[in-house]
Amino acid sequence: MACCADSMAQPHTRGHGAARAASCLGEAVRLNPMPSLYDLSLPELEAHVESLGAPAYRARQVWEWAYRQYAATYDEMANVPAALRAQLAATAPFPEAAPVREVAADDGLTRKRLFRLHDGKLVESVLMLYDPRSDSRGRATVCVSSQAGCAMGCIFCATGQSGFERNLTTAEIVAQIIAFAREQREAGGQPLTNVVFMGMGEPMANYRAVWAAIERLHDPAGINMAARHVTVSTVGLVPGIRKLAAEPLQVGLAVSLHAPDETLRERLIPTAHRYPLPDILTACREYVARTGRRVTFEYCLMAGLNDAPEQARSLADAIGGMLCHVNLIPVNPTADNSIRRPSRSRTLAFQRELAARGVPCTVRVEKGVEISAACGQLRAEPQPLELMTAPARR
Ligand code: SAH
Ligand code: SF4
Repeated sequence: MACCADSMAQPHTRGHGAARAASCLGEAVRLNPMPSLYDLSLPELEAHVESLGAPAYRARQVWEWAYRQYAATYDEMANVPAALRAQLAATAPFPEAAPVREVAADDGLTRKRLFRLHDGKLVESVLMLYDPRSDSRGRATVCVSSQAGCAMGCIFCATGQSGFERNLTTAEIVAQIIAFAREQREAGGQPLTNVVFMGMGEPMANYRAVWAAIERLHDPAGINMAARHVTVSTVGLVPGIRKLAAEPLQVGLAVSLHAPDETLRERLIPTAHRYPLPDILTACREYVARTGRRVTFEYCLMAGLNDAPEQARSLADAIGGMLCHVNLIPVNPTADNSIRRPSRSRTLAFQRELAARGVPCTVRVEKGVEISAACGQLRAEPQPLELMTAPARR
């Protein structure tokens, strides 16, 4: 194993007086007595800066450094007075999300990074760059984690099998994205274009923090990412789907179905009984009606479990007529090697059944399978990961 921890570690401090000094802050503070810079909205940051005796426009300078320049420390904020920088570092520090390891694949186009959070929890994020020769849009997508672990327990998912640890804060979600954005900038690479909540965890079970992170991403005075370039993937938490549909920003919705019927679904997703399939589909139809956007249904194909042509036909019946798209994902290997991906021909046969019934459908091209960076493989493992390509240091 090679480890890039030492060279990648960010300087970071967490001020001891933060809880006291931050008492003037808004909601983020009530939830977390020691908020990080990225936890705060611009109005909250302005109020905080004013409470420190500085004019509100200083907050906008800090905001610009954080979300336009992707500063990693307050020290970089050259036009902010040193005394204020020190106060801010003590009361609204950068989140502690230290990169401890990175592995790359696809000639460096896919990079998985392990972050250690302030309490030692480990989460992973993946940057997926697309070869401009095959992707004229030149996308640079970050797949972020929304929780450390996951409580949903999907039997085919490495994260689900490792159990739930805790929700991530807004700052911890944003930090995963900004770390990649900064490096892309420094390397003169493609700026980030898309963010997908398809890493560790169930984003709808951590809705508030996830939504606030989306607001940070979208903010025109900051990262300025189009809402349609953000996708939230859920295992089917109906209240979350309804909330998302009602939001003013229209982000993409992906719903992990994996089965055409309730019985099989509950076998694959042990917690699925909380929101039965018909309720999920009703909520999806409401989302389409409200937003005019199509839903993506993710369907993880597992040999002998959910890959039969008749199951494809039942799936088409269940979602038929909806503005949607099915993403077939041949299951990636996890610790449970009794769950296998179907043969290519069986996968294509499943796709044909859907297409024949008018359901748009693609087979996902997985990136990073060999570094456990693909869907469902984002499990924070304390043991060494194989380093395939050392990321270029900049
Ligand atoms: N919890 C959310 C988002 C994170 S999982 C959800 O379940 O949608 C992101 C995607 O990875 C989901 O579609 C999930 O079904 C898929 N996935 C999980 N384990 C997988 C595996 N072993 N192989 C392929 N896809 C997997
Ligand atoms: Fe959680 Fe999604 Fe994995 Fe299921 S597939 S255990 S919901 S992360």
